[in-house]
Amino acid sequence: MNVCFRNVWYPDYENKTLVRGTFYVDGQRITFKEPEHIDAMFADTLVTPGFFNGHSHVAMSLFRGIGDDVDLDRWLNEYIWPLEARLNDDYVYWSSMLACMELVRSGATTFLDMYFWEKATLEAAEKVGIRPIFTPGIIERPGWEKALQRTEELKDLGALVGVGPHALYTVSMNILPDVVKFAKENDFFIHMHLMETASEEAYIHNVLGEEYLHRLEDIGLFEVPVVFAHGVHFSEKDLSFLGTKNVVVAHCPQSNMKLSSGLFRWDLARDSGVPVAIGTDGAASNNNLDYIEEMRTAVLLARGVSGKPDVLSPMDVLEAATSVPARRLGLELGEIRDGYLADLVVWDVEDLCMVPADDPQDWISHVVYSAGAQAVSDVFVQGRWVVRNKSFVGVNPSEVVEEVSKRRRAIRKEDLIR
Ligand SMILES: [Zn+2]
Repeated sequence: MNVCFRNVWYPDYENKTLVRGTFYVDGQRITFKEPEHIDAMFADTLVTPGFFNGHSHVAMSLFRGIGDDVDLDRWLNEYIWPLEARLNDDYVYWSSMLACMELVRSGATTFLDMYFWEKATLEAAEKVGIRPIFTPGIIERPGWEKALQRTEELKDLGALVGVGPHALYTVSMNILPDVVKFAKENDFFIHMHLMETASEEAYIHNVLGEEYLHRLEDIGLFEVPVVFAHGVHFSEKDLSFLGTKNVVVAHCPQSNMKLSSGLFRWDLARDSGVPVAIGTDGAASNNNLDYIEEMRTAVLLARGVSGKPDVLSPMDVLEAATSVPARRLGLELGEIRDGYLADLVVWDVEDLCMVPADDPQDWISHVVYSAGAQAVSDVFVQGRWVVRNKSFVGVNPSEVVEEVSKRRRAIRKEDLIR
């Protein structure tokens, strides 16, 4: 697919401004050189890079609204883990379809996922057209090594992969060194939940001590890029340490607030030089996968807890939502730049939430502080047109709604779902 974006406005992260210019999609990539033929054209509007969802469990959409009013410990033990024991490829496929559609509708073009049954999610993601990055979940129990095998198999299928030790309370120092060794040998990044709740903080300090990050350093964990999800309870000392490492924190504000896990301090992370990405987490603890809403929650929370209305500019927020995690993982996406993968969102700048704008520069503020998914007009992922004039391409939403609802009824059990 070759597309011309003529005289459009797009972000220039280096100069922290919107610039106006013409660029193209030539096949899968962005170019500033006009291709031989053009299949479609957009002009005089706002185009941004697609959003990078920094932390998700897309197959959990099936559990939306279950266990709404409990903390993380009870939520996992009493609701999620018993339900997950009943999942299979079929459930995961349809749940992932629902999630991928919800993500792409809000402009997300990549999601970094940690779960199980990844091949079913891969199939759904391919159908919808969104890019998954898989980190098969490792939980220390007999047969945990299978997650490493799945990582290799997914890579062989052409998917982007990393290694996913679930958390320090589910993966102990008995096996973590082997997991890290596997990541290093294969040049994979690591994706792990860390310091999500106060009880996890107490557990880690008790088992590994307050210098737990040094213990992780001793086993070589920071020798590959690392994505830590949540990081709500990092101390300032932790953040200064992490500021010297190749780390990005995936901040999941809505999940953290819904589970009453605490409030992440983006301002302190930033002051320590720790890059921040934004993630939705799973729909079971969010409870939606609207990336635009997540981005706005993240910046409002940063302003609220820091007491500084200028703590982040709208352009800083957009950068965290697009290029920050991609750059950390060495991926050529998240920026409108020559040769980068064509992951693009075309905005409906005449939608009610995008007006008025005296100057096109206002659009960046509107995207961050005002827009909803209804302002996303078109989405391209690696040059493939996946949302066209606010409709999914090649996917029938009513079929997905019906199939997902059928499966939700099938797992319904009075004592689990109240
Ligand atoms: Zn998570």
